[in-house]
Amino acid sequence: MPCISKKHGRRSLADLTQTEKQLSMKQLRYEMKSCTLCIDQGFDIIPRAIFSGTENARIMVIGQAPGVTEVEAGRPFNAGSGSRLFQWLAEVGINEEQFRTEQYMTSVTKCFPGKAPSGAGDRVPSKTEQMLCRPFLEREITLVDPMLILPVGRLAINLFFAAKEPLSSLIGQKVYKDNRWIVPLPHPSGASRWHQSEENRERIRQAIQQIVGILEYAMPEEDRK
Ligand code: SF4
Repeated sequence: MPCISKKHGRRSLADLTQTEKQLSMKQLRYEMKSCTLCIDQGFDIIPRAIFSGTENARIMVIGQAPGVTEVEAGRPFNAGSGSRLFQWLAEVGINEEQFRTEQYMTSVTKCFPGKAPSGAGDRVPSKTEQMLCRPFLEREITLVDPMLILPVGRLAINLFFAAKEPLSSLIGQKVYKDNRWIVPLPHPSGASRWHQSEENRERIRQAIQQIVGILEYAMPEEDRK
C-alpha cells in the first residue's frame, strides 16, 4: 500500500514554504469570497462563497453547493445535513468542531444557487456554474493536498467516478487516485431518501469502515479529535 501520511514523507507542495502556502490560501479565500462570475453570467445565486478549514487539512469534504442555512451560518454543512454527516463521521472518532477547524470543507460550487423551480429543495448548479467554479476547487485541492477526500452527494461524486455508476455500487467503495484516497458518501440531506433504506445504511456503514481503515493506517487517533 502506498504511504499516504504527510508525516511520513507523503507528496507535499514541496516548492511552497508554510508561509507561502498560507499566503496562497489567503489569496484564494479572497478571490472566492469576492467572486461574482455566476452573477455576471446571469445566474440568480447568492454571491457569498461558503467553505471552511485550513490549508494544513488532511481530510477534505466536498459537497454540492451551500444551502440557505449554510449562508446564514456562514459555514458548510450546517443544520440537518451537517448533523447527519457528523453523525456518520462520529463513528470514525471525528469530533465535529475540531474537524470544522482543522480539516477542510467546500463544495462543487461555493455559492447558494437558490431554490429549485419545483420548490423541492435547492437548485442543482448548472454545468456552466460548475465549470465557472471548478478552477477554485482545483486550487483548493492542490493547495490543501488532502490525503483523503470525501465527496458528498452525486454532483461531488461525479468529479471522481463515472456518472453512470449508481450510488448503490459506489457507496462503500474507496479508490486511490492522484496520490490520495477517495471515499464517496451520499448526500445527508433529510430530503434525500437514499440514505434511509436499511440496505443503503449498510452501504454507508461500509463507507465508514473504509474511512476507519484509511485513518488508522495514516492518521493517529489523537489527530482525528
Ligand atoms: S459559485 Fe463559484 S464561480 Fe459562481 S460566483 Fe460563487 S464562487 Fe464564483
